[in-house]
Amino acid sequence: MKYNPYEQMLSVLDLAAEKLGYTLNDYNALRYPERELTVAVPVEMDDGTLKVFTGYRIQHSSSRGPCKGGIRFHPDVDVDEVRALAAWMTWKCAVVNIPYGGAKGAIQVDPSGLSDRELSRLTRRYTAAILPVLGPERDIPAPDVGTDARIMGWIMDTYSMFKGYAVPGVVTGKPIEIGGSLGRKEATGRGVVIVTDEIAFRSGIPMQKAKIAVQGFGNVGGTAARIFYEKGYTVVAVSDVHTGLYNEKGLNIDEIFKHAEANRTLRGYTGKGTREISNDELLTLNVDILVPAALENQITETIAPKVKAKIIVEGANGPTTTRADEILKEKGVVIVPDILANAGGVVVSYFEWVQNLQAIFWDVHEVNSMLKKIMIRSVDEVCALSKGKDTSLRVSAYMVALDRVVKAKKIRGIFP
Ligand code: NAD
Repeated sequence: MKYNPYEQMLSVLDLAAEKLGYTLNDYNALRYPERELTVAVPVEMDDGTLKVFTGYRIQHSSSRGPCKGGIRFHPDVDVDEVRALAAWMTWKCAVVNIPYGGAKGAIQVDPSGLSDRELSRLTRRYTAAILPVLGPERDIPAPDVGTDARIMGWIMDTYSMFKGYAVPGVVTGKPIEIGGSLGRKEATGRGVVIVTDEIAFRSGIPMQKAKIAVQGFGNVGGTAARIFYEKGYTVVAVSDVHTGLYNEKGLNIDEIFKHAEANRTLRGYTGKGTREISNDELLTLNVDILVPAALENQITETIAPKVKAKIIVEGANGPTTTRADEILKEKGVVIVPDILANAGGVVVSYFEWVQNLQAIFWDVHEVNSMLKKIMIRSVDEVCALSKGKDTSLRVSAYMVALDRVVKAKKIRGIFP
């Protein structure tokens, strides 16, 4: 079954608007992305052939500030996915109250099939193609699935070459040497852990006794698993696109990291008491906390009835389908929505941009303590609304976000 993530986003948005007492007139403009750019990206491959890739940059809203959002390199990405990801960025920045709108970019490509030089040429040509809509005051990309600090460095360099001077604030998640922020790489995973601690505490689940499963072992899932492990928590399962690993007594995440770094896959890891499992098995394990941190639409209506976790913390964007969300709600599972759970990345991206604009560097303690403060304040606000209005955390998070964006839009008015 093909799920349309943009339609799923709209269904929650409409519900949040209804709960806020908004009419369609109040928020109709926010049901449409402000600007969509589709670009053809020709790349000369190492063997001399020319390949043309499709790229996107979609800006959902700039009502509260410059557009902000990652760039995804993935072979299956399509326009509805990028639209949804752009809108989620608007709600995410609003729920944590940082002065940005939302955007997202993507290229339909499997980056693992390209050489370094091909990847650089692809990134630079894509950046040149979307250059008219980029800029530190306009739209600021960051890493997402399939992209990393090195790719952000190439984007910064390409933009700077066109400008004629270094513009570090055009992109976040860059290498530290060219203006990246300490703590940015780990920020999304760290934010996931902060939120998990808070929600588990409020739900009366002691983290020291909790069993945790994490789907996805990349920037978000891998970092979250490592920080859970460093805090002495029991991570019983992790997975990547190839396989899952399970040990009911708890995995040695340090060892698994070393294996993953050396082999670029979790496959083949043979730690004591550990067995391989499928991704579907991971999602339905007998655990207290489940962190889907891979891709969209992983927890479907087929998986949801079998989920045993008491809390789901959405490290990924859109991992739970609308129908699965309803089933889990009926089962009493607490779901911490993506726009809140994985907002740590954009919060530290915001810190990086502020440091770039002011040409200063913060130390990592400053970054992490400010991150914690913002994440906890946001959890407080969403939980208070959820209690007061008797709504799910997802609808409450959308209500907090939508209210902020609608107010900004009303104050600014509709041009002309
Ligand atoms: P990544 O590319 O670093 O890692 C993705 C991980 O998911 C990899 O381990 C990959 O093997 C695994 N994976 C891919 N397809 C899978 C599948 N079908 N089943 C199971 N595992 C699969 O990406 P990331 O940056 O960690 O992003 C993961 C999710 O978090 C995405 O939804 C992304 O939009 C979201 N997110 C990322 C950030 C960030 O700062 N990187 C911020 C907010 C949200």
